[in-house]
Amino acid sequence: MISIPVNEPLLTEADFASVMGALRSGWISGSGPDIEAFEQRWAEYCGRKHGIAVANGSLAIHLAIALLDLQPGDEVILPSFTIISCIWPIILASATPVLVDSDPRTWTMDVHKLKQRITPRTKAIMPVHIYGNPVDMQPVVDIAEQHGLQIVEDAAEAHGAEYRGRKIGSFGDASCFSFYANKLITTGEGGMVLVDDDELAERARRFRNLGFQPGRRFVHAELGFNFRLTNLQAALGLTQVDRIDEIVLRKRAMGKMYTERLSQLDGLELQVEQSGSRGVYWMYGLLVRETTGLDAAELARRLAQRGIETRPFFLGMHEQPVLRERGLFADESYPVTERLARQGLYLPSSLSLDEAQIDCICAAVREALA
Ligand SMILES: *Cc1c(COP(=O)(O)O)cnc(C)c1O
Repeated sequence: MISIPVNEPLLTEADFASVMGALRSGWISGSGPDIEAFEQRWAEYCGRKHGIAVANGSLAIHLAIALLDLQPGDEVILPSFTIISCIWPIILASATPVLVDSDPRTWTMDVHKLKQRITPRTKAIMPVHIYGNPVDMQPVVDIAEQHGLQIVEDAAEAHGAEYRGRKIGSFGDASCFSFYANKLITTGEGGMVLVDDDELAERARRFRNLGFQPGRRFVHAELGFNFRLTNLQAALGLTQVDRIDEIVLRKRAMGKMYTERLSQLDGLELQVEQSGSRGVYWMYGLLVRETTGLDAAELARRLAQRGIETRPFFLGMHEQPVLRERGLFADESYPVTERLARQGLYLPSSLSLDEAQIDCICAAVREALA
């Protein structure tokens, strides 16, 4: 029987050589030339002035939220359909997360429902480019401007994606990336915050490093955390960034192959790329229609029997036991997100997949639906 994993990082000789070089240089912890080079390279690629590398993508969001100086009762708007990493820093700041349902076609935040969620306490909006599909950013940018709100962009799944000719990661006052092993480019664990403002960048760097001030060491005017990325990891990031354009092209080609084959199947709905957007198909997702009599769990079971590994979609934030336990989102319902959580899964999306394997996966999906 064939066996196709959902994702595998693709490392090259250049990656191995870069990490060995860093190891030999002795720069093995949270400072060193490769960190600064990686920050500069990634910021430049995304059209930003500053990059602040951190230990993972969740901490990138944590740092971006910390920079907002939220007060208890302040509100941050985010999609109901996302990862827990987006909401946790808001709760830790004693602020209030406010959810917006998903667009049924793009599966990203439904920007037409954004305005009705704004109150005098709203401080920021957090768009998340789900599975590498860009959020319709123009309305978000317009609303943020009208109401004087900050944008914290979660671009952790959308390296190299574009919206109206502009790179994803360039739309936030702070924009966050993850370089976890299954992302388009990786440092194993890793993340980065991108900003343009010089002072904000300096503050983010201090926050990442326990609030140490330049000048006298061990005197702290502000509290910070140790969120540092290691130089060893940054060395891997540098050779990964070298390949970003090639990886984006490959991901888009794979996305196209899947779409061509799966769009013929009546029982499925696929994620729609809006005109003007260039998604990167981080993971290739699908929704199984209720008319098939199947849900995602049953489809996943049938695909696993055929050697195809899949992953379920996110469960909406309003349905998370740990958040409901805290009294959040009682009586709130986000029907599109609820449907995505029950009917959605994603297919193998490794860079190493070839067309024959994609054929094989799509044939298995067809059989599983029959
Ligand atoms: C992966 C991911 C994160 C978190 O990144 P980690 O590096 O795994 O902490 C945050 N947001 C989204 C949308 C992600 O996919």
